[in-house]
Order: sequence, then C-alpha cells, then structure tokens
Amino acid sequence: MNCIFCKIISEELPSHKLYKDDLVTCFLDIAPINLGHALVIPNEHHASITTVPSEILSRMMVVAPTIAQAIAREVDADGFNLHLSNGQCAGQIVLHSHLHIIPRSPTDGFSWGWRSTEYENENVKQELFNKISIRLKNKNL
Ligand code: AMP
Ligand code: ZN
Repeated sequence: MNCIFCKIISEELPSHKLYKDDLVTCFLDIAPINLGHALVIPNEHHASITTVPSEILSRMMVVAPTIAQAIAREVDADGFNLHLSNGQCAGQIVLHSHLHIIPRSPTDGFSWGWRSTEYENENVKQELFNKISIRLKNKNL
C-alpha cells in the first residue's frame, strides 16, 4: 500500500508516536498548526471515515480526548479542536482517514475561517430535513 500513514504504522517511515494499540495509532503532525498538533488514525487503511468499522471509530474517539488533554497540559493550551476532513473537497490531503488533535490558546492567532449561511425559507429547511431523515431511516446511504 503506497500510503504514507500505512508506512508510519508499519514503521517504514519514522514518526513520533504518542500512542498505539491494536486498532489505532496517534503521532505528532509533521507540520503542526500549533505545537503538539497530533493525528489519530486507524491502523488499517481507510480513505474515508465512512468505511471505518464502528469498533475502530469508537477507539479513535475514546483515545483522542485523553491524548488531547496530555498535549494541552504540556503546551499550556486552554482547549483543543478535534477535526476531521473527509474527502479532498473538504481539505483531506492524506487519503488515510485521520482525526486531528489541535491544541488551542486564545493567543495562537489561528482561525478556521468558519462561516454561516441561511436557508432561503422555512420550507426549504423542512424539505431538506425530511429528505435526510428518510434517507437515514431507510439506510439509503
Ligand atoms: P489533511 O489535510 O486532513 O489530510 O491533513 C494531513 C495532515 O498530515 C497534515 O496536517 C500534514 O502535516 C500531516 N502529515 C503529512 N505527512 C506526515 C508525516 N509523514 N508525518 C506526520 N504528519 C504528516
Ligand atoms: Zn493508509
């Protein structure tokens, strides 16, 4: 598998591993947004988070807050972002799904550039809500 994160798991590539168990691995990001920025990844290759089995997904979310807390304490951060980009249009560059742990402080000067928009009217919102709900209910994924 020609995937840099698979190579990190197999130790073909070096990394600073903070955590590893039978399902997931966490290591320092090579180009951190803030110092201590780390990535939690499934040990098996999945390009998309949507194909990661639930046991592995759970483990990723179970270990992330503990690791994030240790990082935050060490770099004197007040909080952290857990972030996952799924798909290239969403900003995913490495196609081995990964959860970013980004320690944050009020003075770090980093902004997501978050935006908000609005529905044209209540009907548009309700119709979309209905369609998504039916899709979920019917497992029409
Ligand atoms: P994303 O844009 O969500 O796909 O993020 C990919 C992340 O992987 C970026 O933050 C990169 O800095 C990081 N990255 C790429 N190569 C390595 C590597 N060899 N070791 C650690 N982190 C890496
Ligand atoms: Zn991989």
